[in-house]
Amino acid sequence: MSMKILVLRTPIRGADYSSLEKYARVEYSSFDEAEVMKKIRDADVFIGYFASKKVIDVAEKLKMIQTPAVGMDRIDIDAATERGIIVCNTTGSNAESVAELTWGLIFGIARQIPGADRLMREGKYERFAPEKHTMVWGKTLGIIGFGNIGRQVGIQGRIAFNMNLIAYDPYITPDIIMNARGRPVSLETLMTESDVVSIHVPLSPATRHLIGEREIRMMKPTAFLINTSRGSLIDEAALIKCLNENVIYGAALEVFEVEPLPVDSPLRKMDNVIMTPHQGGAPESFIRMYEATVENVTRFITGQRPMYIANPKVLYR
Ligand code: NAD
Repeated sequence: MSMKILVLRTPIRGADYSSLEKYARVEYSSFDEAEVMKKIRDADVFIGYFASKKVIDVAEKLKMIQTPAVGMDRIDIDAATERGIIVCNTTGSNAESVAELTWGLIFGIARQIPGADRLMREGKYERFAPEKHTMVWGKTLGIIGFGNIGRQVGIQGRIAFNMNLIAYDPYITPDIIMNARGRPVSLETLMTESDVVSIHVPLSPATRHLIGEREIRMMKPTAFLINTSRGSLIDEAALIKCLNENVIYGAALEVFEVEPLPVDSPLRKMDNVIMTPHQGGAPESFIRMYEATVENVTRFITGQRPMYIANPKVLYR
């Protein structure tokens, strides 16, 4: 077999790539970049979560990078495109899972559930921050990025909790938002009018710090900010400053500018913040991601057009 597929081994159950052995030699690597750089030299396909220009430069035979995930912010797509390497993800595979976690965070902060749980464990029987408990029913939900995840969260909020849905997404036609019975708005209007702001935008140089101090200061003092997408979409230092000054009610964060979140991050000590450690995927969605990955790589190596291509222009050269 002349083809080689290099796979980044993950500790998650369900990642079964054995069916690819029919078509190619499958080799595994740890997350260590030096090991990846050594093993990727003669690989035709790379299944992994990161590929810097440095990694791509040494991968002389590489034709495809397939990530078993949705976010592609750790893959240098421009460097891959320049080399004619096709980059694919598994769009939509974990949308339900991330949407469910987003609702967990929305209710967690609206009803101060983590704080109450903490008090119960300390032997108390009282509400945490009772003055801050709030309902979302009938309030305004602002979705930034109305793609697979944002659309689900938005529609769920409108139907299940009678929320008034507004959304900002300049890269889709407004009908997509209107068909979901939402109102397309500017980022400024969204920040100003929403009671809950939830971010579902891919991270790229263009979207880094999309939400900065200026945008946070537009929010209502009773509103809260949810981020299950990528940490650097928000200027974290500006958010910490605004949370310290109680500019907004609070934030629920699943992703951070530096992951793992540094032990001494001020966010860990803030009462108006709840956090999860980038756990948007659930076992059911991981299986879907791995299945989609195997299917897509199979398509590619058997001469069919793969799906979820981030840089389709490599096909037309
Ligand atoms: P998607 O590609 O389906 O949707 C993204 C949407 O964002 C698109 O509609 C796009 O037009 C829009 N967008 C792009 N730039 C924008 C901008 N500047 N302003 C407003 N909208 C903009 O992606 P998705 O499946 O909904 O996932 C969104 C992000 O969620 C991913 O890129 C990933 O970073 C993150 N994610 C996190 C987890 C997790 O474990 N927490 C899991 C999956 C995905």
